[in-house]
Amino acid sequence: MAKQQKIFTVHLGCSKNQVDAECLITEFLHLGFKTVDSAAKADYILINTCGFIEPAKEEAINTILAHIAGRKKNQKIIVTGCLSKRYGDELKAELPEVDYWAGLYKPGELVRQMGLTPAESCAVPMRQNLGGFKHHAYVKIAEGCERQCAYCAIPKIRGRQVSRPISEIVEEAQMLEKSGVKEITLIAQDTTFYGREKKSVAGGNLKDLLRALLDNTNIPWIRMLYWYPAFIDDELLEMIANEPRLVKYIDMPIQHASDNVLKPMLRKYAAKELRDILLKIREKIPGVTLRTTVLVGFPGETHEDFEQLMDLLGEIRFEHLGGFVFSPEEGTPVMAMKKLEPVAESDARMRLDAVNEMQEEICAENAENMIGKEVTVILDEVAEESEFHFYGRTEANSMDVDDIVRVVEGDGDVGTFRKAIVVDAGPHELDVKLI
Ligand code: SF4
Repeated sequence: MAKQQKIFTVHLGCSKNQVDAECLITEFLHLGFKTVDSAAKADYILINTCGFIEPAKEEAINTILAHIAGRKKNQKIIVTGCLSKRYGDELKAELPEVDYWAGLYKPGELVRQMGLTPAESCAVPMRQNLGGFKHHAYVKIAEGCERQCAYCAIPKIRGRQVSRPISEIVEEAQMLEKSGVKEITLIAQDTTFYGREKKSVAGGNLKDLLRALLDNTNIPWIRMLYWYPAFIDDELLEMIANEPRLVKYIDMPIQHASDNVLKPMLRKYAAKELRDILLKIREKIPGVTLRTTVLVGFPGETHEDFEQLMDLLGEIRFEHLGGFVFSPEEGTPVMAMKKLEPVAESDARMRLDAVNEMQEEICAENAENMIGKEVTVILDEVAEESEFHFYGRTEANSMDVDDIVRVVEGDGDVGTFRKAIVVDAGPHELDVKLI
């Protein structure tokens, strides 16, 4: 009787990369492997890498080197994901200690490379959930991106957009629902462009997908991330406003708000258009939570441009915001834009500090206004060894990226929804008591 093989996974990067790792692990499980929670116990170490920007690449390389250094006798190391896709050939030459390399997830590709035969039942994989919460799952609705934003390497790594068929996504959601999932988060590089690429096999656009998920599952919370400021019409917004199971949460990276920056960034919208879309979302979906991402220090950005960004952030008052300083990425369109005046690192950092300072004030004021409010909380986990009972989230908190809710009073079951009253709040946490 062959010894059961044990596999340990290190997942790096975004939720889209996480779904790839989950599909990979599921293939190994179907082949009788067992997942373990430490490298020391494993026969195979799977490192699913991110290769988006410099810090992510460094983290991936350091993680690989650490596992090579700590490798047990006969232990095999597998490297997959974006870094492997982007720099596979160079890395293979530099890191001969790695046993198997694979790029982005392709059903059966890696296990075949390892001399194994993929199990039949992987057609629509019943996925191993790396997120750690049985009641939540990311559902990737498309791979790749049609846009060519000047600072972004993703189209080079993940290719043009390919939307999954609505029927396949619904089937996966139904399987996830059967396995106890109460919240799915729909993800892609550009979720609002779902089903709109040429020769798409989706069988419809984002609204059609949402309608199909609402009609064919009873999943209580359906959330979306990674909107692009396009294809956002009244019908879509009204659908979200009127359907209780569509979470009132819009994640839309805007990157900037000055035409003088948006143009060379190759973002396909003007500042006025962007402002109009944001104001319409606020108007059409009362109480909506808005999350965004901004990029400061893009070559050519002037102080006046930055002031325009701050004006929009001050007006829209995003509930959640992630700010980044531009970092040049080889092979991206901006590298050829030699005429653009680089922004001094110190200026870019000062601008990011100003963005974060303003955002902190907005979060503090929003938190203050939440005290005494009634909210619906999903209980994510028991708060071990802490004064709190549970950690959870409201509709306003997306998994992994947003603040959490701390339950100070009340009992319940993990993975269930509970009504609660906000008894205290800080810029980055809400304290509630269950009712
Ligand atoms: S929309 Fe732009 S930033 Fe987002 S993945 Fe596509 S190219 Fe990159």
